Amino acid sequence: MAVQTVAANTESSVDLGPAAALSCRECKERFDLGPIFACASCFGPLEVAYDLPSGSPEELRKRIEAGPNNIWRYAPLLPVPADVADKPNTNPGFTQLVKADNLARELGVTGGLYVKDDSGNPTHSFKDRVVAIAVEAARAFGFTTLSCSSTGNLAGAVGAAAARAGFRSCVFIPHDLEQGKVVMAAVYGGELVGIEGNYDDVNRFCSELIGDPLGEGWGFVNVNLRPYYGEGSKTLAYEICEQLGWRLPDQIVIPIASGSQLTKIDKGLQELIKLGLVEDRPYKIFGAQAEGCSPVSAAFKAGHDVVRPQKPNTIAKSLAIGNPADGPYVLDIARRTGGAVEDVDDEQVVDAIKLLARTEGIFAETAGGVTVGVTKKLIEAGVIDPTLTTVVLNTGDGLKTLDAVAATSQATATIRPSLDAFRAAGLATS
Ligand SMILES: *Cc1c(COP(=O)(O)O)cnc(C)c1O
Repeated sequence: MAVQTVAANTESSVDLGPAAALSCRECKERFDLGPIFACASCFGPLEVAYDLPSGSPEELRKRIEAGPNNIWRYAPLLPVPADVADKPNTNPGFTQLVKADNLARELGVTGGLYVKDDSGNPTHSFKDRVVAIAVEAARAFGFTTLSCSSTGNLAGAVGAAAARAGFRSCVFIPHDLEQGKVVMAAVYGGELVGIEGNYDDVNRFCSELIGDPLGEGWGFVNVNLRPYYGEGSKTLAYEICEQLGWRLPDQIVIPIASGSQLTKIDKGLQELIKLGLVEDRPYKIFGAQAEGCSPVSAAFKAGHDVVRPQKPNTIAKSLAIGNPADGPYVLDIARRTGGAVEDVDDEQVVDAIKLLARTEGIFAETAGGVTVGVTKKLIEAGVIDPTLTTVVLNTGDGLKTLDAVAATSQATATIRPSLDAFRAAGLATS
């Protein structure tokens, strides 16, 4: 292993709180904090390494509970400066953990079923979490333009955060996204570029742009700021455990696009255990994909360690990444924790969106249909244990993917404004 300068960070002017260095997930080589994302030695992905807080778990728990009602309550565990809550940012997080008793009854779950509903974030998806962290890194590294390759939700989150935090933004999406995603990406006043191709084409284009003088001074939240961005997903793990009364859930069902969110939720749970904030006991992580873009699920079922890229074709466009960067790590985590990766088809996605809406009054986007659909499928298959505590993620808002349910969600009747007409429609209860 090469000798890298860890101590050099102490001389650097970059203040990202407890973040100490970047560390290669493959060869463990360490690098100074900076806008880099791949190991110079082995090209493995870099992730943030910390000097985590010392002191008793009780002290830390109290400090967190006294913090703001957003992700900044976990600032001691994130790559952000200590005064982050005072800076202009979108301040996402601390979304509802809904005890879904009606859905539990319908699915036969007796051990407690919860929906972590991230549609309540500022731009109505979980992406506000990752972007909020990337914004602080972009500030620390002196970038003036924020950018990303996006399946839709990320573009909106970047647009909003850039507007609030005072960056220029220029974001890239596949040209054929849902109207709700396009409008939300454009409305905040930044530049929005549709690329003729799918997400994997957009991502490849952005990688080229970073290496070119055209992209100089640009912070791509999910490319050159990816190590910081990813850390935002840890806050889902922190919140779920805190909201359960500082307890690990037994089973968590997480959607997979690039797989970043799933791997960082696992990292967050491991940190809570290490810090003594929760009792160390086994938990299982389940990954959820749409059949029309299920490279990780296919690899899991085939017993493979590598993920074969696919060409996406599904209504779950926010998850439509055919070549997921974190796929192999997702496979590791699902296998290590005794979980699984499963997929459902588009019809099951629509049915699951309507099931969640009908039972819990939560209108999920297609990604939420994927997690609820996979949960149902895995319970029926005896893979998810209905007697244990299960948390299902809804990562986005159904208003952004209206097309998925529009055809089957229309007025029951259209009538003249008269009692006779209403009686004739047969909708009265008496
Ligand atoms: C981006 C996204 C995800 C998951 O993304 P990862 O790339 O796997 O981290 C899940 N749900 C929604 C709604 C998203 O927009």
